[in-house]
Amino acid sequence: MKKGIHPDYKTVTITCTTCGNTFEGGSVLNEVRVDTCSNCHPFYTGKQKFGQAAGRVERFNKRYNRQSDNDTEEE
Ligand SMILES: [Zn+2]
Repeated sequence: MKKGIHPDYKTVTITCTTCGNTFEGGSVLNEVRVDTCSNCHPFYTGKQKFGQAAGRVERFNKRYNRQSDNDTEEE
């Protein structure tokens, strides 16, 4: 590898903006933020729910006073 032209690859803390989970990872950036992680992604949780990522559907349901299907919690 040519010296002096490559950014430093280091261990950083990756923060999930949806559930607030943090974990270690490698990157050339000082800090990494992701929208979803293995802690809150529906594939791993088995729930059809996106906390803050909802948005449009949530707003539509709120406007028409509908019970949002996204908010159902099943154990
Ligand atoms: Zn997460």
